[in-house]
Amino acid sequence: MSIIEVKVPDIGDFKEVEIIELLVKPGDTIKVDQSLITVESDKASMEIPASHAGVVKEVKVKVGDKVAEGSLLLLLESVATQATAPATAAAVPGPASPLAAKTAAPAQVAPVAASFSGQIDIECDTLVIGAGPGGYTAAFRAADLGQKVVLIERYPNLGGVCLNVGCIPSKALLHAAKVITEAEEMSHLGVKMSEPEIDLDKLRGWKDGVVKKLTGGLASLAKARKVQVVVGRAEFSSPNTVGVETPDGNKVIKFKHAVIAAGSSVARIPGFPYDDPRVIDSTGALELRQIPKSMLVIGGGIIGLEMACVYDALGAEITVVEFSDGLIPAADRDIVKPLQKRIEMRYAAIHLKTKVTRLEARKDGLMATFESAVPGGSTPAPQLFDMVIVAVGRRPNGKEIAAEKAGVTVCERGFIAVDKQQRTNVPHIFAIGDICSDPMLAHKATNEAKVAAEVIAGHKVEFNPMTIPSVAYTDPEVAWMGLTETEAKAKGIPYAKANFPWAASGRALAMGREEGMTKLLWDPTTKRIIGAGIVGVSAGELLAETVLAMEMGADLEDLALTIHAHPTLSETPMFAAEMGLGVITDLYLPKK
Ligand SMILES: Cc1cc2nc3c(=O)[nH]c(=O)nc-3n(C[C@H](O)[C@H](O)[C@H](O)COP(=O)(O)OP(=O)(O)OC[C@H]3O[C@@H](n4cnc5c(N)ncnc54)[C@H](O)[C@@H]3O)c2cc1C
Repeated sequence: MSIIEVKVPDIGDFKEVEIIELLVKPGDTIKVDQSLITVESDKASMEIPASHAGVVKEVKVKVGDKVAEGSLLLLLESVATQATAPATAAAVPGPASPLAAKTAAPAQVAPVAASFSGQIDIECDTLVIGAGPGGYTAAFRAADLGQKVVLIERYPNLGGVCLNVGCIPSKALLHAAKVITEAEEMSHLGVKMSEPEIDLDKLRGWKDGVVKKLTGGLASLAKARKVQVVVGRAEFSSPNTVGVETPDGNKVIKFKHAVIAAGSSVARIPGFPYDDPRVIDSTGALELRQIPKSMLVIGGGIIGLEMACVYDALGAEITVVEFSDGLIPAADRDIVKPLQKRIEMRYAAIHLKTKVTRLEARKDGLMATFESAVPGGSTPAPQLFDMVIVAVGRRPNGKEIAAEKAGVTVCERGFIAVDKQQRTNVPHIFAIGDICSDPMLAHKATNEAKVAAEVIAGHKVEFNPMTIPSVAYTDPEVAWMGLTETEAKAKGIPYAKANFPWAASGRALAMGREEGMTKLLWDPTTKRIIGAGIVGVSAGELLAETVLAMEMGADLEDLALTIHAHPTLSETPMFAAEMGLGVITDLYLPKK
C-alpha cells in the first residue's frame, strides 16, 4: 500500500479552470480513468480522470477552487502505483513512432492493438476517415500522388463541419448580415434605405445552395480522381483494418496507410435542456429556423460572436455571456476593443466574467440564471430568453473511432497526438485537423492533410508553419497571426510594435469605418515581422500579407518599401511598418 498524490494532468490550452463538481469522496474505491472532478473553462466543461486506482483518503480541493496542470486533487491509497493503459482487445503491440509528438498531450501508454482475421471487402493503399477539409484534401492529394484511396464519411455529403455546418454556411449568413447593417448605417452618410424585409426561407435556401454547390463539387472532384467514397461510420478493428457500418451492411476495408480526419463535435455545458428546440448550438443556429425576439449567446469566442452578428442583423436582441474577462480571449485586447465597443452599442448586454449556472425551459421562454465567474464579481439578474445558443467550444472526436484497436493513443480530451509529419504513435497511421490539435481551423486541417499524404507517398516534408492565422468574421473583423503581445509579455519575448489607426486611412474614412487598427510586432534586433493584429472591415483579407511576410522572413523595410495601391486598406500594414521605421508621413509622430 502506498499513498499517491493525484494531480491535474495536462489539460491542453486550459490554463486555469474552476471545479464545478466533485465526483468522488473519501472512502470511495476508484478505478483508473474514473472521473474525479468536473472543471469548467470559458470554452467547455470536462471531467478529470483518475491516473491510478485505489481508495480515496483525502480530497484536497473543493467546488469553486481554480486548478491547473499539476494541482493536487486528492490522496489515494493504492495497491498498484503504476497507471494502467486503457482496456484493450487482443495482443498485437502498437509500434512506437520514432519522432517526437507535437501535440501537447500527456505521455500515455500506447494501447495494445487488436487483431482481425475476417473477410476483407475492399483493399486500398490509403484509407481516410472523415471527409472534412482535412480528410478530402488528404484523399485527393494521396490520389494525385498515385495511391489507391478510400474515403469514408458517415454523412452522405462530403465537406465535414467546414462546408456543411461551419465556415461556409456561417460566412454566407455573415455576408447577408453585413449587407443589412451597412444598408442600415448608410443613413449616417445621408443615404436612407427602407427597412429590409427578411424572407427567412429564401435566405436559408441561398445559404443551403452555397453549401450544396461546394459539397457537390467535392463529390465530382473525388470521382475525377477515382477516390472511392464509402458512406458509413468507421471504426478500427486492427492496425490495418476498419469496419464501416454502411447502408448496405458492414464492410471491412484493409489499408496500408490510414489518415484519421474525424474532426470534432460541439462541446456542451452539462445539465441544460438540450431536448428543447429553443436551446441550440452553432449547427442549430445555422439552420435559421426563426429569428427570436431575444437571444442569449453563451460563449464570447469566435463562433458565438459570429452567430450573434448574424442574429443581431436579422433583428434579434442579443445578450452575450462570457466566462473569461474578455471577448475572443486568444486575441490581444486592443484589437478586440473596437469590436466590443461597436457591439456594446448594438446588443442588449455583454456579461464578462460571468457564467450561466442554470437554464430552465419554461413555456414563455428559457430562464437563464447567471453567476459571477470571479469571487465577489457582480451577478446579472436571472433573465428570460426566446432562444439560447451554446457556443462554448469543440471537442475532438478521438474517442469515437475505436483507435485503441489500431494501437493509436488518444488523450483524455480526445486528441490524437502526432509528430511533425502527422504520424500517430503507430507509424503507418496519421491524424490531421481538429482531431489532432488546436487550433481547430480548416486551413490548419488542409495543410496538415497535404503533409500526411505526401509523407505517405515518401516525400520528406513536415508541417512546420511559422504561424496559423486566426480570423473572427465579426463586424468589424478581428484577425491576428504570429506572436500576440499578450503572449510576448507572458513569455518575456522581446518585441517592438506599431499601431496604425485607421482614422488616418483615406479608404477607411471613405467607407465610414475608421474604428479599425493595424498592429505590427517585430523583432527589435532584426526588425523581422513576428506578429500582427488587425481589426476592421476585411481584416481577415488584410492579414494574409502579414502572414506571407512572416513566412518569408520579411522585415519592416520589406513591407514599407513595397508599393501598395492607394487608397486601399492594404496600405495599413505598410503604414504600420513605416511607423516602425519612423518614416511615416500620413501621421505625425512627435520625435522621441
Ligand atoms: C460554426 C463554425 C464556424 C467555423 N468557421 C470557421 C472559419 O471561418 N474558418 C476556419 O478555419 N474554421 C472554422 N471552423 C472550424 C472548421 O470547421 C474546422 O476546423 C474544420 O472543419 C476541421 O476540419 P477536419 O477535417 O479536421 O474535421 P471536420 O470538418 O470536423 O470533418 C470530420 C468529418 O469526419 C466525419 N466522421 C467523424 N467520425 C467518423 C467516423 N467514425 N466514420 C466516418 N466519418 C466520420 C464527420 O462526419 C466529418 O464529416 C468553424 C466551425 C464551426 C462549427
